[in-house]
Amino acid sequence: MEASCRRALELGLPAIAFTEHADFVGGGYPDHRPLDLAGYLDALDRCRARFPSLRILSGVELGQPHRFPAEAAAVLAAGGLDRVLGSVHCVPWAESLMDVSLEGLLTPERAPDLLRSYLGEVLALVEGGQGFEVLAHLDYPKRYWPHAEVPYREQDYEEEFRAVLRAAAVRDLALEINTTRGVEPGRGLCPGPVVLRWWVEEGGRALSFGSDAHDPERIALGFELAARLAEGLGFKPNHDPTGFWRR
Ligand SMILES: [Zn+2]
Repeated sequence: MEASCRRALELGLPAIAFTEHADFVGGGYPDHRPLDLAGYLDALDRCRARFPSLRILSGVELGQPHRFPAEAAAVLAAGGLDRVLGSVHCVPWAESLMDVSLEGLLTPERAPDLLRSYLGEVLALVEGGQGFEVLAHLDYPKRYWPHAEVPYREQDYEEEFRAVLRAAAVRDLALEINTTRGVEPGRGLCPGPVVLRWWVEEGGRALSFGSDAHDPERIALGFELAARLAEGLGFKPNHDPTGFWRR
């Protein structure tokens, strides 16, 4: 985290948010480690003391909170967190919840059905009423999609995407443009231009940028591209550098 703060200052970023994972996955992942909130907040305090010129936001990414509402509520009650993301990583699979990044899950045969199932989970997340303000990486399966064998066409899932976006606009959520650590835009921008256009059409008002860096070297990679896209759709930067872009 300290290396990330140093990198943020090098890049001239005015602020950084560490949205630590609180990923609720049930029994399917015996090695899964729950969020150590006290340890996280200690590390954050050390960063704030060490880098006083950088605004450092606390935060969390709640994974599948609609399936684990009590656990999610407990994190939020304990946290006092500045920024809360909601996301889906997992789909129901073989009587368990499986992360779609799992190798071998998104085969060419299964990928279209699993994307529909994934978007159904995201709709349940948005309608679930858990307390988060940013919808993170709406089309996460795109990162793990078998692009060589199955063309990834958002239009094939337009109804499912629009249902999620409509519900998110009603809740006044910010939609994240996740730049996936700067990987090539076809796979990396989650979501890309087609879905962002639908976000505007369905009444979306706010965008958040996240590089999902997981590594100090990858902070803010892809932000210029995301900002150009946002501008092209009529979103404007916020006077508060930690604030969402709005239209
Ligand atoms: Zn995530």
